[in-house]
Amino acid sequence: MIVVMNHGASKEDMEAVIKKLENTGFQVHLSQGVERTIIGAIGDKTRLGSLALEAMPGVEKVVPILAPFKLASRNFKEEDTVVRVGNIEIGGSAIHVMAGPCAVESKDQLMEAAFRVKEAGATILRGGAFKPRTSPYSFQGLEEKGLEILAEAREATGLYIVTEVMDSRTLPLVARYADILQIGARNMQNFFLLRDVAAAGKPVLLKRGPSATIEEWLMAAEYIISGGNQQVILCERGIRSFETYTRNTLDLTAVPVLKYLTHLPVVVDPSHAIGKWRFVQPMARAAVAAGADGLLVEVHPNPAEALCDGPQSLTPENFRRLMEELRQVGKIMNRTLPDAH
Ligand code: PEP
Ligand code: MN
Repeated sequence: MIVVMNHGASKEDMEAVIKKLENTGFQVHLSQGVERTIIGAIGDKTRLGSLALEAMPGVEKVVPILAPFKLASRNFKEEDTVVRVGNIEIGGSAIHVMAGPCAVESKDQLMEAAFRVKEAGATILRGGAFKPRTSPYSFQGLEEKGLEILAEAREATGLYIVTEVMDSRTLPLVARYADILQIGARNMQNFFLLRDVAAAGKPVLLKRGPSATIEEWLMAAEYIISGGNQQVILCERGIRSFETYTRNTLDLTAVPVLKYLTHLPVVVDPSHAIGKWRFVQPMARAAVAAGADGLLVEVHPNPAEALCDGPQSLTPENFRRLMEELRQVGKIMNRTLPDAH
């Protein structure tokens, strides 16, 4: 960290800052220029938060050198984190696709979706049993019944299950059924839930908040990792922008940026980012080309009848085609996708 002193800062101001830093355990290096003095401080930056250096007389600004996230950072752990779910590895050389309907609606609907996405090469089945809906009058999910249906589909197909957990109250229930716990975009900064999910000890799919910066998102991951759970998968699902034609704006830049900043696997959800099925395929291809470790795609046996997110859901046939295309893009990227059956 660098502390830049004001042009008119006195010797006493400077000494007070140095004393405070040294008392907090920082090593101090001084650089006295003609115009102003700069104080370099080396030490444990987690102690910085309580210092309020910018409130001290003579201090112009404090410039952090390192990012505030530590355990999630590539500087801290250079090699990629590989999240193991059963016999698959997310963040390894294979690209894994999580696919299925937005919500579990019935046994027939989910079973059909499960068999069709498996045939196309998906390895993980998605489906919400607890749904975070903007309107309290919209379908809220089948809750425990939905989880039971997901478990039956896992049994029947061998697919792993990713499903959203919305609060700490239902976490023990959801964790009994899920292979991967999904933290939805709206809950990305629900810090109590993040701590509880860390303690649940299952892999976590952490979606990006609709207005979260990459740094805020990585700080959310830091909550889970510092809570003792390193099995975190980041999921870019679009952010709010001024554009209204698409549901959100897919920030594909986040993929290479995250691969640089963090060791965690990165998955892209083009469905929620775009909100219109016809644009999901090209952006899914682009996500693989950008270096994503996986995708999350909404697929419904009959999108026109879906209780949730039908307009962005692919038909099983379109999903099958997409998987073929992804295998081609994967080849260029030196990544494999599981075969179709
Ligand atoms: C979902 O995956 O169905 C979902 C609600 O996603 P998000 O939290 O990204 O909106
Ligand atoms: Mn959805």
